[in-house]
Amino acid sequence: MARISKPTEFKKCSKCSLVKKYNVFRKKKDKLGWTDVKGEIRYSHCKKCESSSMRLRYKISPIPQMLSNSRIRAKTKGLEHNINGEYLKLIWPKSLNLWKSGNSF
Ligand SMILES: [Zn+2]
Repeated sequence: MARISKPTEFKKCSKCSLVKKYNVFRKKKDKLGWTDVKGEIRYSHCKKCESSSMRLRYKISPIPQMLSNSRIRAKTKGLEHNINGEYLKLIWPKSLNLWKSGNSF
């Protein structure tokens, strides 16, 4: 059953468990979240927790982030986005080595 949340100004972050004001929680486009005082749907964890979990995920694998960036670049340039994670993995070690050798001088 869906829980209908009352509009609130302060919310306890689901990750750091700190009670924070609604504006430190990012807005969502779908209906899954909680409602702030302005009637907008927000994430259950604060921006700070969101960015730290992003950083953690990037450390484990930067590929999803790189793919998302390249998709945005392709869109703004009006190009077709036709690369995927497998392709990035394929070219990854080579470009990483090039970068390393370029910096070793
Ligand atoms: Zn938090």
